Amino acid sequence: MTPGDSGRAAAALRDLPSIDRLLRAPGANELLADFGRAPATDALRATLAEARAALLAGHDPDPAAPPDWEVVAAARERLAAARERLAARLAPTPPPVINATGIIIHTNLGRAPLSAAAIEAIAATAAGYAALEYDVAAGRRGPRGAAVEALLTELTGAEAALVVNNNAAAVLLMLSALCRGREVLISRGQLVEIGGGFRVPDVLAQSGARLVEVGTTNRTHLRDYAAAITADTAAILLVHHSNYKIIGFAGEPEAAELAALAHERGLLLLYDQGSGALLDTAAYGLAAEPTVPNGLRAGADVVTFSGDKLLGGPQAGILVGRVDLIDIARRHPLARAVRADKLALAALGATLGHYLTGRIAEIPVWGMIARPLDDVAAEAEAWAGQLRAAGIAATTVAAESFVGGGSLPGESLPTRVVVIAPGDLGAEALAARLRAATPPVIGRLHDGRLLLDPRTVLAGEGEAVVRGVVGALRAEWRVAGSG
Ligand SMILES: *Cc1c(COP(=O)(O)O)cnc(C)c1O
Repeated sequence: MTPGDSGRAAAALRDLPSIDRLLRAPGANELLADFGRAPATDALRATLAEARAALLAGHDPDPAAPPDWEVVAAARERLAAARERLAARLAPTPPPVINATGIIIHTNLGRAPLSAAAIEAIAATAAGYAALEYDVAAGRRGPRGAAVEALLTELTGAEAALVVNNNAAAVLLMLSALCRGREVLISRGQLVEIGGGFRVPDVLAQSGARLVEVGTTNRTHLRDYAAAITADTAAILLVHHSNYKIIGFAGEPEAAELAALAHERGLLLLYDQGSGALLDTAAYGLAAEPTVPNGLRAGADVVTFSGDKLLGGPQAGILVGRVDLIDIARRHPLARAVRADKLALAALGATLGHYLTGRIAEIPVWGMIARPLDDVAAEAEAWAGQLRAAGIAATTVAAESFVGGGSLPGESLPTRVVVIAPGDLGAEALAARLRAATPPVIGRLHDGRLLLDPRTVLAGEGEAVVRGVVGALRAEWRVAGSG
């Protein structure tokens, strides 16, 4: 730092206004009105501290220098910084992003986007009152979620259904209500962790049921289960290890075999199916994911699953099965603690409506799964063309999209993605620039390249993807070419 620099820094420090001066500056009243007195004052203090720290980082101020608080420009700058800070705090949260990863059910990006009908149902329910626990015809209290439960029983073939907050809650409730204090048999190959800390042994412990491990990691036989049954056994728990696959010398009994054994010995077969597949995924060119109706047909007494995985709806946990067992779960104190809210019930009802009418492609998750390769490729080519027109070296290559969300591990859909030559910037830095765009564009890094997959980009978002890339690389030209 030269003496000149140091003098300028000292002057800049002196010019920083006091908080009182800032509160009297033009524009301050608007800031207080827009954001509230306390948050606005806090934000002004924070931006002053920030500016002071930045100046001090390069300089020790001369304590004898006379302060000059009358610098309007400095005050204006602080007010603008405070407004930006407050606006960022009040921005929609979680912030909307564009998913160009090609991972359809991306747990970190909020899993399933909702259908137009589900969004409408949420808006209508949120804006006013709704007969959530009210029988409109009878004019008195009614059961919560009854209409959604009726759709669930019709679509799955179950006797009864119950909707709770998420599938982790559904499994916890099922085990707490039906197995507390007793033994539950589970194959060692199914003692799994399902992302985000859902560990089957922990959930079992929390429910008060006692875990009895049977078989081995790769192979468990029906006779292993049979040998482990005691007078204390309440149930066999079948967990669909949806997020990994054991390949090679591996095997487990089918749900139907387990159901037959359980029922012969007076036990329940409880089945954590997970993904909530109601349709045959094989019809979409994917491996056959076990479905909820098949689990029930095989003889499971209760099946649990998520609302926001392959079902394609809102976050929810669903229990379907025998009416006497579902009623025990419904009356358990935990049921009240983990119940679904009215917005989730509204969105779930609308999503299930698509299954009822057979208009599956209206469910975004299934629309993306079913989207033909040609269609994805045409969009990728269009993006690449627009990027090349803006002077950016973009090409398209064949790649894979994934279902994700702990469903169908290793299964992919053929897709076509845009690859951008990142130049000197590097793929990681380009990805970071894209994440800093408005709205953020999240791509997928693969083999040192940044891929943008149109399959998971919603209708109408493509333009923002192209704009994001152009903006990200423009910034690079500015830095490299300095002007
Ligand atoms: C996803 C999953 C869960 C957890 O469900 P959440 O809805 O995320 O709580 C539990 N079990 C299985 C088998 C799953 O696939």
